[in-house]
Amino acid sequence: MSKFKEKYLVPTVFRPNGHWMVGTIWPVKGSKGNEYSVELHDKGFNCDCPGFTFRGSCKHSQAILKKVEGVMEW
Ligand SMILES: [Zn+2]
Repeated sequence: MSKFKEKYLVPTVFRPNGHWMVGTIWPVKGSKGNEYSVELHDKGFNCDCPGFTFRGSCKHSQAILKKVEGVMEW
């Protein structure tokens, strides 16, 4: 069994499960110029940066979460 538990940043405004945006990948520039990818999964967002892997949260995924939730205010 893997020790690594997949982590997700779970949105509060909408349910990602089955959402049409699942599978969408947003490229995000990191502070050092490197590029990361934030992806929406059925369980929430994740990011491929080291910070997210470690903490399950990062500013890239949070920025995308805010952006997506901002669009969804209806
Ligand atoms: Zn990140």
